[in-house]
Amino acid sequence: MGYADLHAHTTASDGSLSPTELVRLAANTGLAGLAVTDHDTTTGLQEASAAAQEAGIAFVPGVELSMKYEGHFHLLGYFIRPGHPGLDGRLAEIRQLRDLRNAAMVGKMNDLGLRIDLEEVESEAGGEVVGRPHMAMVLQKKGYVGSTQEAFDRFLTRGAPCYVPKAQLTPEEGIALVRAAGGVPTVAHPFTLHLEDAELERRLLEWRDHGLGGLECYYPAHSVEQTVYYLRLAERLRLVPTGGSDFHGASKPQVRLGCVYQGQGIPTEMLNRLRAAAG
Ligand code: AMP
Ligand code: ZN
Ligand code: FE
Ligand code: FE
Repeated sequence: MGYADLHAHTTASDGSLSPTELVRLAANTGLAGLAVTDHDTTTGLQEASAAAQEAGIAFVPGVELSMKYEGHFHLLGYFIRPGHPGLDGRLAEIRQLRDLRNAAMVGKMNDLGLRIDLEEVESEAGGEVVGRPHMAMVLQKKGYVGSTQEAFDRFLTRGAPCYVPKAQLTPEEGIALVRAAGGVPTVAHPFTLHLEDAELERRLLEWRDHGLGGLECYYPAHSVEQTVYYLRLAERLRLVPTGGSDFHGASKPQVRLGCVYQGQGIPTEMLNRLRAAAG
């Protein structure tokens, strides 16, 4: 039995390693499986898949989407078919809206006297998905903040002075989009929903009726108690338990690839269960 990390970002969105570099790091770290889950894009998947084949590790093509209901959460899609026209077309629209949001956020930073422009943020990003971690990196490089976390806390987090919400799908649409592309819709880092146990369960049941298939039980920010709770919940609701580090590289330096739970990845058996649940 080997270990897997089923949540990681590349330069295709806001990670700092290219898909090939990420896969090589995974292999060098001793992982037997890896999912690439970039925000709002599937462009890194082809390169990552080829690199994984070469490195001899199991690869899960994934994506991470932002959902809005009364609250917010992230939806992972596992084993999606890259190049699926329905999914890729909708992602392109979401990225266009994201570009408008980024321009608005840079405008707010300028209003506060922070000298930063959109071109700098885009060149920090390098890829087609530009977001807040790139803004945080530029603010840090310019000396406005001592860390990317400080950039979020002071300027970029929801409720902070430069925050502008981004376009988000409803859970129903997001789940349907992932299913249509053959993937397993999975609620990411469930502690971020900030719901009481009963309310979380109610929501998960509602979304499961729409096609939700998995729950990210293992996540570095989950305590042991939370992990056990989510694992039991997943089993009870017949959702596939998953887990990942949410590795980003430089913009989230405290997170290490493959360190998901107690310093290790999750059993690759979960990867196989996800594959079996995919369309
Ligand atoms: P965006 O898609 O542009 O809204 O950026 C979302 C990403 O920013 C997330 O995936 C996290 O990596 C990071 N992020 C969001 N909120 C915070 C926060 N409060 N502190 C640190 N990083 C954050
Ligand atoms: Zn991210
Ligand atoms: Fe996320
Ligand atoms: Fe993520």
